[in-house]
Amino acid sequence: MTEYLIKNGHVFDPVQGIKGDRKDIGIKDGKIIGASEVSPSAKAIDAKGKTVMAGAMEIHAHVAGPKVNVGRWYRPEDKLFNSCKISEATRIEGGFSIPTVFKTGYEYARMGYTFAMEAAMPPLYSRHVHEEIHDTPIIDEGALPVLGNNWFVMEYLKNKELENSAAYCAWLLRQTKGYGIKVVNPGGTEAWAWGLNCLTINDPVPYFDITPAEIIAGLIETNEFLGLPHSMHIHGNNLGNPGNYNVTLDTLKLAKGHKAKNTFGREQVMHATHLQFHSYGGDGWGTFESKAKDIMDLVNKSPNITIDMGCVTLDETTTMTADGPFEHHLTELNHLKWANVDVELETAAGVVPYIYSPNITVNAIQWAIGLELALYARDPMRCFISTDHPNAGPFTRYPRVIKWLMSKKAREAQIKAFKNSDKVVAATEIANMNREIGLYELAQMTRAGPAKALGLAANYGGLAPGMNADVAIYNLDPAKMPADPEGIEKAFSAVAYLFKDGRMVVKDGAVIDHGQKKTFWVDVKVKENKQVMHDVREKFLRYYSLNEGNYLVPESYAPHPYVIAIDATS
Ligand SMILES: [Zn+2]
Repeated sequence: MTEYLIKNGHVFDPVQGIKGDRKDIGIKDGKIIGASEVSPSAKAIDAKGKTVMAGAMEIHAHVAGPKVNVGRWYRPEDKLFNSCKISEATRIEGGFSIPTVFKTGYEYARMGYTFAMEAAMPPLYSRHVHEEIHDTPIIDEGALPVLGNNWFVMEYLKNKELENSAAYCAWLLRQTKGYGIKVVNPGGTEAWAWGLNCLTINDPVPYFDITPAEIIAGLIETNEFLGLPHSMHIHGNNLGNPGNYNVTLDTLKLAKGHKAKNTFGREQVMHATHLQFHSYGGDGWGTFESKAKDIMDLVNKSPNITIDMGCVTLDETTTMTADGPFEHHLTELNHLKWANVDVELETAAGVVPYIYSPNITVNAIQWAIGLELALYARDPMRCFISTDHPNAGPFTRYPRVIKWLMSKKAREAQIKAFKNSDKVVAATEIANMNREIGLYELAQMTRAGPAKALGLAANYGGLAPGMNADVAIYNLDPAKMPADPEGIEKAFSAVAYLFKDGRMVVKDGAVIDHGQKKTFWVDVKVKENKQVMHDVREKFLRYYSLNEGNYLVPESYAPHPYVIAIDATS
């Protein structure tokens, strides 16, 4: 493998506390090494006047599996205006908000990303999720199985059987090659099977007679019982409705009193995702307003919570979520086509196209709320950039989100471009916010922070010797800041170089190598649990449409696994 010496770049690395100093970095055998240890034959890369960071890590996106694919086949128009690119090194690319798996890998890599977490894997369809992960080039990936509406989990938690809940989740993570515990509209998606929903954390789930609050607290305890690398990852109740911020505050408060087992360096017990969709005030669309400050006041005071933003990018996109009742609500609002799927004993999903228009006041306010969350965040190690791809916009717009975060001038230009900018200014705080996120904070929000929240900080998210050699070099000169806002967007759209596991995979914004992607999953060992295995057998025989043997994701689906083994037997 080629050895490299990256010279004279401005390094931003929160792991080592390096804030733009000029520092040389060596790469050998897939690892970062000290510049003095590099052999004379190493290939030199001139990074003078450029920004050097670790590979970026995506903590929440919908990039693989059945609902993404439903989006692809029922929205052929998504490919219409995005003609397919092809080069000698790459496979054909297509799609905008729901790109093909090839385009997904390439686009992340071009932006300097080396990891993405698929945020909602229906356990029953985990083979499909892994098939798409397998075919997505370059980037490492993991997937979070959804468990907040799972019959087993609800029954165990209702009966206060924590050990059984933990044994079942451990079994399920192994069967599905999953990475952690995801919760989507706890109880509400099961209620949707009865045409109902759970709009507060105290609404009982029909038949199961458990509340969302009990599911959330129970799954936090399950997660800590097992000592998983990531915290319980939640999409809360009542997403997308005016006035929902109170439900969000109630949800966040459930983290109180819980302590992380602190395995793998993680310190949080809850990751609250795409908070933009959960930070709404007002009692209807006419009085719709930002409550980002109320939400972030609580998050800032709660060191055991991490969040991601769910930023609106003002694009035409395709929404998709395991929050089945929400998608039905959305299609009633915008009258665009709707797809709905029920996943037997486990979850559901819906898909609806959506156009976030700068001419629609509510959409413009949503845009402001997403950015306000990050601008209010006191600890960038606990607040991460996301668009909940593709729900609030495609991940390919991250460079634009970064521009808005880094430049007040860019925000002002966007506010001016809104049709009803006075109403947007009145319903939000964005116009009064002077903060501009710096490159070091950006490295915290996109590298070191997510790596720590995912329990991967020992090897990922930084550039210290011994860490994995995922390195992004951008055409952005920190000595010439503040840069022109368009220059920021351009720099983060196309890396000068990206190294993945020590291999150069992107050069001058063009993909030159498919790398060797890895699939991350956890293998947790628990005490033998005859009760749970009996319950699994019984439910497969009685209710599932397939048998247990066809449920498991075979080893061959993840030929390059990164398995995190955990012993939770004692
Ligand atoms: Zn999501």
